[in-house]
Amino acid sequence: MKRLFALLLLLAALGGGAYLLSKARGFQLFGTVVARVDTDQPLVALTFDDGPMPGYTEQVLGILAGRGVRATFFVTGREAEEHADELHALIAAGHEIGNHSFSHERMVLVRPAWVENELARTDAAIRAAGYEASILFRPPYGKRLVTLPWVLEQQGRITVMWDTEPDSDPNAGAERIARAAVDSAEPGSIILLHAMYASRDATRDALPQIIDGLHARGFRLVTVSELLDAGDIAPGPRPQ
Ligand SMILES: [Zn+2]
Repeated sequence: MKRLFALLLLLAALGGGAYLLSKARGFQLFGTVVARVDTDQPLVALTFDDGPMPGYTEQVLGILAGRGVRATFFVTGREAEEHADELHALIAAGHEIGNHSFSHERMVLVRPAWVENELARTDAAIRAAGYEASILFRPPYGKRLVTLPWVLEQQGRITVMWDTEPDSDPNAGAERIARAAVDSAEPGSIILLHAMYASRDATRDALPQIIDGLHARGFRLVTVSELLDAGDIAPGPRPQ
């Protein structure tokens, strides 16, 4: 009985450790993961996950264009295929496009071939829309354990996480989201926002205040690639 209890305790500890590892922002078993760039320059990167979605994409584009800001959009392959016009609009406006998997399923406890397919189909959709620069990657839910980091390392790709997620509480209003984004930013911060679905009114409403507040603090808003270029982190080979 004691031994069984000890075994259960061990399994629970291993499970807990794997869970913590799967969502750790700054560490993974293989390859390079970036949650924030080490720089003294007053630079931060706004990043938008999911989509592109009709309507919301144009709304976000309008706010960014009105303030002369470029951002990084981590799109899913499925939505990129379905909404190629919106993806094309993001590219035409000069924003950086990243790969956020094809299906947006958790990429843990999965086979390498499945991961490779998720990456390749999404890259193909981004290329089909005319994007020519390197394609960064961010995992859905930020989750990764063993296979995904291993495949990414094989492909010479880094994992882009974030150090600030001001809209993580779905009940937060625009004011609170804006304040959290502006107050928590540091030089080199990567700010994660979700603005692509109907439920994300508060984030879209907060976006002008976020940009204005960051500018007021003296920050310049750049893409993730520009941030990486300005930082001391050696991200390894750039994705092809
Ligand atoms: Zn996502």
